Amino acid sequence: MNVLSLLTQETRVSAASLADFIAGTGLRLGVTGLSRSGKTVFITSLIHNLLRAGAGHGKLPVFRVHAEGRMSGALLKPQPDDAVPRFAYEDHVRALIGPDRRWPESTRRISELRLTLEFERATGWFKGARSLTIDIVDYPGEWLLDLPLLDKTYATWSRETLAATDTYARRPLAAPWLDFLKSIKPDDVESEDVARTAAQLFTDYLRASKAEHFALSTLPPGRFLMPGDLEGSPALTFSPLPVAEGVEIGEGTLLAMMERRYEAYKAHVVRPFFRDHFARLDRQIVLVDALAALNSGAGAVRDLEHALGDVLAAFRAGRASLFAQIFRPRIDRILFAATKADHLHHTSHDRLEAILRVLTARAIARAEGLGAGIDVIALAAVRATREARVKHGRETLDAIVGVPMAGEVVDGKIFDGETEAAIFPGELPDDPRHVFRGDALATPADQADYRFVRFRPPALPLQMDGQPQPLPHIRLDRALEFLLGDRLL
Ligand code: GDP
Repeated sequence: MNVLSLLTQETRVSAASLADFIAGTGLRLGVTGLSRSGKTVFITSLIHNLLRAGAGHGKLPVFRVHAEGRMSGALLKPQPDDAVPRFAYEDHVRALIGPDRRWPESTRRISELRLTLEFERATGWFKGARSLTIDIVDYPGEWLLDLPLLDKTYATWSRETLAATDTYARRPLAAPWLDFLKSIKPDDVESEDVARTAAQLFTDYLRASKAEHFALSTLPPGRFLMPGDLEGSPALTFSPLPVAEGVEIGEGTLLAMMERRYEAYKAHVVRPFFRDHFARLDRQIVLVDALAALNSGAGAVRDLEHALGDVLAAFRAGRASLFAQIFRPRIDRILFAATKADHLHHTSHDRLEAILRVLTARAIARAEGLGAGIDVIALAAVRATREARVKHGRETLDAIVGVPMAGEVVDGKIFDGETEAAIFPGELPDDPRHVFRGDALATPADQADYRFVRFRPPALPLQMDGQPQPLPHIRLDRALEFLLGDRLL
C-alpha cells in the first residue's frame, strides 16, 4: 500500500470521525480481554442495564446521568459498519435471562453494536435534551497483542518468541515444537509440509500455554488461537525460526517463506485491524480474569503481569512507523477491570482491585506519554451470587451463596445446576504483593489457595412494567461512569 492510498483512507476515516466530533455525539468504546475474560457477559449486561435504566428501571447509582435522573432513554440502533457482524445482544440476553439461565456463547471474532443514550445536559449554555451514540466494539484481546508486531521484523519476533519458551512453566509445553525446529535449518529449501508441521506444533504450544491449568498469558500471533475466518490460510501457516538479526535471506529457503508469511500476516491481518477498528476507538476497557490467574498460582500471576504490560505496549504500538503516524490511535481513557468479582465476598472486592492495581502498576508507569487516563476496577458484570453469614462449627463465617453449574464439585459433592450452595470463597491477601510470593516454582492448580466455583446466572424477578429487573452487577456503574460519564454531563 503506498502512502497516497493510506492518506486517502485516512481522510475518509477522519471525515467520519470529524462529523461525530463536531456534533459531539459519537463515541466508540472498545471492549477486549483474552478469551473467557468475560467480554460477552460484560457487553450484554451493560446493554441490558442501560436499556432498563433508559426505561426508568435502572440500578446504576454511581452512573451520574442516571442517578441524577437526567437519563431519558436508551435505544438500540442499526449497526452502521456493514462489513462487521453485529454483537448478538438478543441471543446473549436470552441465554442469560431465559428459562435455561445459561452463560452466552463467548467472543470469537470482532462484532459491533450501536446504542443511543438520550439525556438532559446537567449544566452550561446548552442545557436541554441531548443524545450520545455509543458504538461498542467487541474484539478478542488475542488480536490486540498482535499490534506490537507492526514494529517487529521476523527475526526479532522469532528471537523473542523462542526466548519466551525458556521458563519453568513453558519449557515442557514448547518441547515438541523446539525438537522439531532442531531437525530443520532456516536455509533448507522451502517446503509447505515443513511450514505446516512447524506452524501446527507452534500453535499447539500456544494453545497448551493457555489451557486452564496453566493460564499463561498469550503470545502473538493472536489469530493462531483466535483465527476468526482466516483458519487454515497461508498467512497463518508460519512459525518462528532461530535466525540472527540482519542475516542474508536466501531466495527459495524456508526462512524466506516464513518471513514472507509473517509479513503477509502483518499486512493482511494486523494492519487492517489496526486501521479499521483499533485506531478508531475513543475509549477502551480491558477485561482481565485475575481470579483464574490467582487460582493457578504465583507463576500465572507473574505471567499475567507481563501480559498486561503487553496490552499497554499495544496501545503504544507502531508509534514509530509511518503507518502509525498516519493512523494514530486516539484512545483517551483505558479501564482495566478484574471480572467475576461475585466469586468473592465484598470484603475482598477492594483487595481484588488492589491486586490488579499492583499487576498493572509497572506497565502504567511505562505508559506515561500515552496521553490516556488509566484506571483499575474490580467488577462483576453479572452477579450470580449473594452474601450470607453461615455457621461453621462454632464460628460464623462470611459466605457467598449461589447455584453451582451442573457438574461443579464442592467438597466432594457434585452439583445438579438447581441446588443452592454456600461457599466460603477464601480471602484475598490484604497486601496485594503477596500474590507474587513463593514463585520459585509455578504452583500446580491443585495446591492453589483460591478456589472458585462456577455459578449459574441469577434468576431475575419481574419489575412493575412486566420486564425482568436489570441484570445484577458489582460496580458496573462505576465502570460506566469512568468510560462514558464525562460525555453525559
Ligand atoms: P469472553 O470469551 O471474553 O467473551 O468471555 P464470556 O463473556 O463468554 O465469559 C466467559 C465465562 O466467564 C462465562 O461463560 C461465565 O461462566 C464466566 N463469567 C463472565 N462474567 C461473569 C460474571 O460477571 N460473573 C460470573 N459469576 N461469571 C462470569
